[in-house]
Amino acid sequence: MGILEVKGVNKRFGGLQALGDVNLSVQENKVHAIIGPNGAGKSTLLNCLVGKLIPDTGSVMFKGQSVLGRKPYEINQMGISRVFQTPEIFGDLSVLENVMIPCFARRDGAFRMHAIESVQSEHEIMDMAMTMLEDVNMAEKRDMHAASLSRGDKRRLEMAMCLVQEPSLLLLDEPTAGMARADTNNTIDLLREIKEKRDITMCIIEHDMHVVFSLADRITVLAQGTPLVEDAPENIKGNPKVREAYLGE
Ligand code: ADP
Ligand code: MG
Repeated sequence: MGILEVKGVNKRFGGLQALGDVNLSVQENKVHAIIGPNGAGKSTLLNCLVGKLIPDTGSVMFKGQSVLGRKPYEINQMGISRVFQTPEIFGDLSVLENVMIPCFARRDGAFRMHAIESVQSEHEIMDMAMTMLEDVNMAEKRDMHAASLSRGDKRRLEMAMCLVQEPSLLLLDEPTAGMARADTNNTIDLLREIKEKRDITMCIIEHDMHVVFSLADRITVLAQGTPLVEDAPENIKGNPKVREAYLGE
């Protein structure tokens, strides 16, 4: 059993079948990449995992519990965090303040559940955010305006805002889209560091094959809303079905 089990998921938009009978099993502490041509249904699938869309049929189980019908914030509380295509940060705030925001959210969310032990002072939250910034090598940028960061550092900051919530599954939708090579490599390094430092499962949608082959333990190829192949990276490149559907060769 994987940490995430998707079974028989279908999703239609009017006459268009965006997802057709999708099965996906993501194993704990692995990086699972989902690749496929534009319009294959990758983002639709991701949206079904985080509660932004509800599949017409099928099941989505995370750690043995169904996510279907739950609100995005509830799914987030279950331990699923999502990194958006464009970093969602607060440009007017400092780097440190950006990381403190989800700490407050986590505290106030947890507060309702376990009263006293979860009380954290603002000082403790600042420490927690600083430790997180050190973890992603951004401690010395703590006082900078988030808006003034480079694209790679904005991604780093957004990742810190996600990780400080201690998710067990991180979903990434094209984390290097629109980045120059240097920032892309920086993001690959960051994701590798994150994987080495903590127990975390990643599910990554990515167009850039360099990124996919640098990070993934397993790859699912989606074509026209249906998984075509699931295999280890070394078997994906030479697979003729993949070449035909995806690489257009
Ligand atoms: P990908 O992320 O793989 O490029 P998407 O999941 O965004 O693909 O889209 C899959 C298909 O579903 C595409 O044909 C797209 O046009 C369509 N689609 C996606 N979202 C919607 C929507 N909200 N309404 C109608 N059609 C949609
Ligand atoms: Mg997409």
